[in-house]
Amino acid sequence: MEKRKGNCHGFIEKNVYTAVENALYGDSNIAIHRVNTGAAKVDKRFIRFGVPGQSDFSGIIKEIRCPICNALTGAGVRLEIECKGPKGRLSDHQKAWVDKINEMNGIAIVFHPKTVDELFVSNVRKVIQDAICKPCAKCASTGMDFE
Ligand SMILES: [Zn+2]
Repeated sequence: MEKRKGNCHGFIEKNVYTAVENALYGDSNIAIHRVNTGAAKVDKRFIRFGVPGQSDFSGIIKEIRCPICNALTGAGVRLEIECKGPKGRLSDHQKAWVDKINEMNGIAIVFHPKTVDELFVSNVRKVIQDAICKPCAKCASTGMDFE
């Protein structure tokens, strides 16, 4: 098999975006959109767009429920998903953004698959659900096992 330059893992960051889009396509509880940051030259001028470090996807979660008792624990929660290719690393700006979203009671996920298998829709959905679904305070305090 021919080895592609700089792509020894068989996928790149772009494939991770597609995996996230496929996993959440048609989801009635989560709406996301791609966010672009950077700069572009338009008519000899550089135009910057986006906020430095903001995540690759931004969205909203309609309802978050406790996986044990099904109590509603959140509604209309901001969701951010930062995608990384196998060799990707978070920049300082990206880390600051993720920390800020979580601090503000939003949910920021860093999805950093290392193998092609992790790009399967079922895995991507699990990663996102695991990040979103936490036991409510009542269930957490009774020490019930969650898995
Ligand atoms: Zn509960």
